[in-house]
Amino acid sequence: MKSMDEWLRSEETGEPFSHCVHCHLPLLEIDEPWLVNKEFRRDECVLEYAICVPCRNDLTGRLSEGSKGSVREFLRNEIDWETRIKDFMMMADPVERFASCVICQTGQEACEVFGISALHDSGGELTLGPLPLMICGGCIAKITERLSPESREVWRKFLDDHFSGPSDETIPGTGFSGLF
Ligand SMILES: [Zn+2]
Ligand SMILES: [Zn+2]
Repeated sequence: MKSMDEWLRSEETGEPFSHCVHCHLPLLEIDEPWLVNKEFRRDECVLEYAICVPCRNDLTGRLSEGSKGSVREFLRNEIDWETRIKDFMMMADPVERFASCVICQTGQEACEVFGISALHDSGGELTLGPLPLMICGGCIAKITERLSPESREVWRKFLDDHFSGPSDETIPGTGFSGLF
């Protein structure tokens, strides 16, 4: 089984993420928490980035209130947070959180596509709260359905600005599992 460090490091460099994908500042120097989001298709990582919380807030601030409200309502209604948090606390190693979808509980081995998301504090320590978590492709697609076309366009532009050619419509949602 992969360790948490292995899950969260950059597949491209083999090292922990060092810079925010959006503002390009060094994560350990900015005194802000940051997220690592990765999306996998089976064993292959198809998208990965770290984003500082101010940039994440800037990005989600450009999504419509209706879209954000709809996604948050979905996450509130579909995730049994009380049970999930209890499960999380029982785990000997937080990496076990990546073994199944936080929403539908599907095991990772059964997921064609899945995303993982983790929050680090400003010093680089992993924060254990609702994150880290894993969401399967099917559930990411359900979240995407709740975004307005304008909000999807905000997301697509973010991908176009920062990644070369990942705007693959066949990858559901692509990489925003931890943005809400
Ligand atoms: Zn940033
Ligand atoms: Zn799911």
